[in-house]
Amino acid sequence: MGAAVVVIDMINDFVSGVYGGPRAEALVPRVRGLLGAARSAGVPVIHVTDAHAADDGEFRVWRPHAVAGTRGAEVVEALKPVKGDHHLRKTRYSCFYLTRLDGLLRRLGVDTVILTGLVTNICVQHTAADAFFYGFRLVVPRDCVEAVGDLLQEQALAYMREMYGAEITRSSELIKRGFKA
Ligand code: ZN
Repeated sequence: MGAAVVVIDMINDFVSGVYGGPRAEALVPRVRGLLGAARSAGVPVIHVTDAHAADDGEFRVWRPHAVAGTRGAEVVEALKPVKGDHHLRKTRYSCFYLTRLDGLLRRLGVDTVILTGLVTNICVQHTAADAFFYGFRLVVPRDCVEAVGDLLQEQALAYMREMYGAEITRSSELIKRGFKA
């Protein structure tokens, strides 16, 4: 069994678009570094990104974003999936909800999911909950996830550590130990 890197919502709308900002932009090179190392180590990379219908119910809570087929829903240029990567689409916060992520991870022989991307206290945290419920071990490199503020970031990291047993670490540490548990 091994690990996989799940890259959550590193799309134009969340980096430079309607919900983008400097914190998300600063995340891009850090995630890019981790993905390069993961591919070299033979660790699967799985992008999971929002792809909403124009009238999605989520827009009762959020301004329209990541409408399927628009540029806003595309992975940012610097992190575009490459040959061998996987890319699933989701419509809710959790990467597991109505997607085939659980089956894909099992087919790949994965028992540990490394969560990266946006937003720490929303889609990352909800994905962590489902990963825990499905029985996966969790690792979150703190420099590869981001929230809109320091408090939200720290609270979400603490919650995932306390509720789901997530290991909170850094991408440099993961790379150093070859993505092993
Ligand atoms: Zn959404």
